[in-house]
Amino acid sequence: LLASASVGTLELRSAVEPVRNEGVQLFESLCTGIDFSNKVVTCKNSNTNETFTLPYDQLVIACGSVPNTFNIPGVKEYGNFLKEVSDSRKIRNKLVQCLEMASQPTVSSDERKRLLHWSIVGGGPTGVEFCAELYDFINEDVSRYYPHLMQDIKVSLYDVAPRILSSFDETLSKYATDLFTTRGISVNTEKGVKEVSKDTLVLSDNSSVPYGLLVWSAGLAPNDLIKSLPLSKDRTKRLHTNEYLQVLDEASQPINDVYAVGDCSTIKGYDLPPTAQVAKQKAEYLASCFNKTAMEEQLFEPFKYNHKGSMAYIGGWKAVVDMQKSNHKGMLGWFIWRSAYMSMASSWRNKIKIPTYWALTWLLGREISKIQ
Ligand SMILES: Cc1cc2nc3c(=O)[nH]c(=O)nc-3n(C[C@H](O)[C@H](O)[C@H](O)COP(=O)(O)OP(=O)(O)OC[C@H]3O[C@@H](n4cnc5c(N)ncnc54)[C@H](O)[C@@H]3O)c2cc1C
Repeated sequence: LLASASVGTLELRSAVEPVRNEGVQLFESLCTGIDFSNKVVTCKNSNTNETFTLPYDQLVIACGSVPNTFNIPGVKEYGNFLKEVSDSRKIRNKLVQCLEMASQPTVSSDERKRLLHWSIVGGGPTGVEFCAELYDFINEDVSRYYPHLMQDIKVSLYDVAPRILSSFDETLSKYATDLFTTRGISVNTEKGVKEVSKDTLVLSDNSSVPYGLLVWSAGLAPNDLIKSLPLSKDRTKRLHTNEYLQVLDEASQPINDVYAVGDCSTIKGYDLPPTAQVAKQKAEYLASCFNKTAMEEQLFEPFKYNHKGSMAYIGGWKAVVDMQKSNHKGMLGWFIWRSAYMSMASSWRNKIKIPTYWALTWLLGREISKIQ
């Protein structure tokens, strides 16, 4: 829902759930180190920088990942990631800022075109969904509030792969590409970005493209904690676990009472994508193991992933749904996509808020106020 929140289809708080729950003791702190032999984690209070240690009986490492910049110069400084709620807010403000700056009477034609060139790097589901939400925003709201800018707005999507949505069935990927192209979105496959400056992208063919907004969604990398742990890791530096989700040491031996789930880990020899679907199933598996009694422990089955399908919104009330045995696209895909998102909201507050905001956007359009 972050892509929706970054153009105002949904409000930011409807895309998040608080971690604090009844019966859970929570410390909002950064874990900076783990001592596996003494079973202690070291933490730093994010506000005061004070450090403290916590002993554990069982440890689950679930600290996700960070956006991958591939060390391309300028990406960190000038790109906008789409990973956290704060990223969504930044993008939403930046979009309105570009529109307001482009509306100034003193702006030159070239500068207006630069401000209104919105580039997305990464043609995976996140980049595609952001493109789709951007299309809806331009089509439904920018056309109303900034009709004088419509002819200068340009959206470009870049990916080094030969096709966008490369993890989806080829027919669905082609359907999305054709639809984007018909709508005037420039889909640039087999084209990477090799350098970014404040207002220009340098592409792999050495051409320079001026831009007003850059959204970078080109993959994931390990965070500092994962990088620092002396454990067995895969090619992309995710922690290796065995099929019981136990973390493996550098000699590939399981470490007792230490587990890893989510984007920061992968099962050795059973690689699964870094998605919420995998993270949730692993978390549920581990919770069910922890809730078994010592007697039942003998009955542990290894973790088995049940893939329920992949979905991506492609704008204009259309989505693609790849369920392996059957594919859906267009409005039916959109209906499945929205129903799935609705069913996944975990609190009653968000179960009510999400359809309410969808209805408000449909009836009244998106809000374009800028809140820093
Ligand atoms: C825009 C977007 C759209 C997506 N859409 C889908 C989708 O439609 N379907 C799907 O299946 N997946 C989707 N994903 C992927 C999905 O969000 C991730 O796979 C999932 O969130 C991984 O869960 P996680 O718990 O491993 O990591 P995260 O959700 O990243 O959570 C990790 C948490 O750990 C915290 N943390 C990190 N380091 C430390 C530390 N050292 N100490 C303490 N805390 C720490 C972080 O602040 C964060 O709160 C999407 C991702 C994005 C960015």
